[in-house]
Amino acid sequence: MTSDESDPTAEHWLSGARAETLAIRAGIDRTAHGEHSEAIFTTSSYVFDSCAEAAARFSGEQGGNVYSRYTNPTVTAFEQRLASLEGAEVAVGTASGMSAILATCMAFLQTGDHVVCSRDVFGSTVGLFEKYLPRMGIGVSFVSLGDLEAWRAAVTPATRLFYCETPSNPICEVADVEALSALARASGARLVVDNCFCTPALQQPLALGADVVIHSATKYLDGQGRMLGGAVLGSGEDMAEVRNMVRTCGPSMSPFNAWVFLKGLETLSLRMSGHCRNALDLAHWLQQQAAVVKVHYAGLPEHPGHHLARRQQQGFGGVLSFELQGGQEAAWRFIDATALMSLTANLGDAKTTIVHPATTTHGRLSAQQRELSGIAPGLVRIAVGLEHLEDIKADCERGFSALAV
Ligand SMILES: *Cc1c(COP(=O)(O)O)cnc(C)c1O
Repeated sequence: MTSDESDPTAEHWLSGARAETLAIRAGIDRTAHGEHSEAIFTTSSYVFDSCAEAAARFSGEQGGNVYSRYTNPTVTAFEQRLASLEGAEVAVGTASGMSAILATCMAFLQTGDHVVCSRDVFGSTVGLFEKYLPRMGIGVSFVSLGDLEAWRAAVTPATRLFYCETPSNPICEVADVEALSALARASGARLVVDNCFCTPALQQPLALGADVVIHSATKYLDGQGRMLGGAVLGSGEDMAEVRNMVRTCGPSMSPFNAWVFLKGLETLSLRMSGHCRNALDLAHWLQQQAAVVKVHYAGLPEHPGHHLARRQQQGFGGVLSFELQGGQEAAWRFIDATALMSLTANLGDAKTTIVHPATTTHGRLSAQQRELSGIAPGLVRIAVGLEHLEDIKADCERGFSALAV
């Protein structure tokens, strides 16, 4: 029965399968060896049977692999599995999340174009948009994620791309993807959503009207902090542009990394449920602590994005932040007193991570920019992992004890 998996005509038994099943079964193309775990194809090029076949492959007349910068069977398996989860026609794997974003910009923008971007996107994304796009004569306006009027006001006749992350990092602001996609469409622009924080297990932006989804596979898709990788997803027509950019310019995904991400996807939905459960419980517990001024997590009913998140997400995710009384000094003292949680800016890992955004991930912003993004000096971000909740709380207790002395 399982041998059906390598028979392309047998794909029907996966049609209509649920996400948990697709995450484990989609994209399998078993070789003649009958391996159960997916094979890793570590080959840079492929052999042709004849000159006629080589010519047909090169011209694109015939499908099949030519060179691993273009396509690779292990990368293809990852792309198909992720595409099935996002409800995308096509996924293109890339070497990192940032190269997915770069490939998207190169595929859809040219000199004279304009981008409207949420202010609260990943730091290197801001770097790409602020430093490198303007060098190519592409203008960028940054706006507040949740302020639809600001997005509307920023649109110019040259606007070709809307770009956002939702929920935002680190204060978990939630964007209305349906409303943004309607505005993008009316403005003649594509809406690109970085779905790194939710993953397809919790949110499918394409179903909400987005045109393109970006992933840093480095985070939850791997789930154990081992690999860098990324992906761009969307329609076949749009992804042909992205694929062409990647195969020509080279930020392609490594087959070994693709294999690790394939294994990561198999446990995605279980892991995301665990992250969500731990984060929600921790958020409620943090709210009860005397030293905590405010907890930012969309799972809390008083969070401004709560109702929207309930509507467009299937869970609230694993990242939360909270503000301590006593500003930066208190935040540093809290973090330095913790022992279990890893002090690192990474997230999406089974290991809980903790960071002080104002002096690390958001350290290059001006004090005024940080204030606009709600990043107070006393803010602490936790990307809640999969350890036992009581042990994570006990570690926070170490932090709170350090504040009391
Ligand atoms: C980490 C991250 C990226 C960049 O991904 P890399 O794999 O590090 O290049 C992009 N967007 C978000 C939201 C991220 O967290």
